[in-house]
Amino acid sequence: MSFPLPARTAPSAPRISFVSLGCPKALVDSERILTRLRAEGYELARSHAGADAVIVNTCGFLDSAKAESLDAIGAALNENGKVIVTGCMGAEPGSIRAAHPNVLAITGPQAYEAVLEAVHEAVPPAHDPLLDLVPAQGIKLTPRHYAYVKISEGCNNRCTFCIIPKLRGDLVSRPAAEVLREAERLVKAGVKELLVISQDTSAYGVDLRYAESQFADRAVRAKFIDLARELGQLGAWVRLHYVYPYPHVDEVIGLMSGGLVLPYLDIPFQHASPSVLKAMRRPGNQEKTLDRIRAWRAAVPDLAIRSTFVVGFPGETEEDFALLLDWLSEAKIDRLGAFKYEPVAGAPANDLGLPVVPDEVKAQRWHRLMAHQQRISAKRLASKVGRRLPVIIDTPGASISKGRSQFDAPEIDGVVHVTSRRPLRAGDIVSVKIERADAYDLHGVAV
Ligand code: SF4
Repeated sequence: MSFPLPARTAPSAPRISFVSLGCPKALVDSERILTRLRAEGYELARSHAGADAVIVNTCGFLDSAKAESLDAIGAALNENGKVIVTGCMGAEPGSIRAAHPNVLAITGPQAYEAVLEAVHEAVPPAHDPLLDLVPAQGIKLTPRHYAYVKISEGCNNRCTFCIIPKLRGDLVSRPAAEVLREAERLVKAGVKELLVISQDTSAYGVDLRYAESQFADRAVRAKFIDLARELGQLGAWVRLHYVYPYPHVDEVIGLMSGGLVLPYLDIPFQHASPSVLKAMRRPGNQEKTLDRIRAWRAAVPDLAIRSTFVVGFPGETEEDFALLLDWLSEAKIDRLGAFKYEPVAGAPANDLGLPVVPDEVKAQRWHRLMAHQQRISAKRLASKVGRRLPVIIDTPGASISKGRSQFDAPEIDGVVHVTSRRPLRAGDIVSVKIERADAYDLHGVAV
C-alpha cells in the first residue's frame, strides 16, 4: 500500500514517497514517521518518480510478507533510486542488503529517529514554520473517522511460530495518560472510532507495574481495564484488538454491557487442540475457553468474536484439526482469519522436531476451515436480519453506501451495504434496518 497524500504548495520543499506494508501496528509507525516529516517541512509525493527519496516500511512476519517487502523495495529502487527501508524486516538487514545492496539505509521497527536521520542525510529538510502546519492529531493513514491507537510495543510471550519479540523486543507500554491524550486529540479532530492495538493488549501495563499517570483531573492506572474504561468515556466507539483470554479480560465484558466499549473482541486463538497450543506455546489460559466464551455471551449476548487460526502447524494431526472444527462449531466465532503455517526463518517452531504437515494437506485443511466458518458466519449474520443496528459509514455512495456495524472492524471484517434516500457522509453513524444477510455481509436500509 503506498500513500500518495495530497501535496501542498511549497515548491522547494523536499518530497518523500512512502510505502506502508504490514499490520495496523506498522501503519501507526508509518503515521508517526509521516507526522514528523510533515512537521519538518517535507512534502509527501504522489509517486516514487516525483519524489526526492522513498521510505518503505516493511513487514517481516511471514516469508510471503518479506517477499512482498523486497518487491516493494525493488520497485522503489527502479522508479526512484534513493530508498530508505524501515519496519520489521529492517531488524534483519542482511536479507535486504543481499537482495538490494543499493538501499541508502535500513532501520528496524519503531526506529523513528533513525529513519528521520536517514531522510535528513538523503534529502536535507527545508523547514518553514509558517508553511509546515501539521494537524494536532498528526498524519493519519486511515480515513478521518477511525484511527488506530497503539498502546504498547513488543511482547513478553514467546509463541514458537512468531519472531515478533525478536524483531520488536519485550513489552513496552505507553503511560495511560499519554494514550488518553492522543485518543482525546483524535476524537476532538473528528475520529468516531478508536481501534486499540498492540501485540498483546491484555498485557498492557505489566512492564509499568500498572503505574498511574495524570489525565485531566484524575490518576489513571496503566491497566487494561482502567484504560478501556477511560477510552470509553471519550465519546467514540472503542474496539479492542489482540486481546488474550487472560482471566482479567472477563472484567472488560462489564464495560461492554455498560456500553463503554464495543461488544467486540479480537482474540487470536490460533488453534483449539491442546497439543498444538502447547507446541505453539500460546499465552493465556487456553483451558475452559469455551466455558468462558459462553459466560461472556451470557453477559453480552451480542458479543462478536474475531479470531485468527493457523492450520498445518508442525505436528498437527487430522484429529487436532477435527478438534478445531468442533471447537469452532461450539464457539461460533463470528469472524475468522486463517493462515497456512509458514516456517518463518528464526522461529523456534522450526526446531521443535515435529513432523512437517505437507503443503497440500495444509491447503486442504485451510479450505475445509474456511468452508466450515462460512456456514457459522452465515448463521450468525442471519440472526441479525430484522434488527436495527447502528452503522458507521466508511464509503458513501449515491444510493448504496458501505459501512460497518459494531460487530465489524475496518478492513478485516464484513460490511453493511446501506441503502439510503438521504446523502450519507463518511463517519456518519446511522440506524439501519437489516433486511438481508449473506455469508460475510449485511444489507439494510437507513431509517
Ligand atoms: S503473543 Fe505470540 S504471536 Fe503475538 S506477538 Fe507475542 S509472541 Fe508473537
